[in-house]
Amino acid sequence: MTTGELELPSSAASFLNCNLRGDEAMATHTDPVCGMKVDDQKAASQSTYQGNTYYFCSEGCKTKFDKNPQQYTSQKAVN
Ligand SMILES: [Zn+2]
Repeated sequence: MTTGELELPSSAASFLNCNLRGDEAMATHTDPVCGMKVDDQKAASQSTYQGNTYYFCSEGCKTKFDKNPQQYTSQKAVN
């Protein structure tokens, strides 16, 4: 009487879960300058401002951002 031959090892199950999670791990960011969606893997450039990392579709957008980051990061209306 042998049981367990058909059971998947638990390590295989966690491997499958890991694979599923890997697909969702591709983060998409919004280029704050032009509003384009940018994959962090494919971003042409990135910049860190006040502890946040911003991703850009092109060097041109990064240059604009670096000149005046406040213009692109302020979520609240500035009086
Ligand atoms: Zn852009």
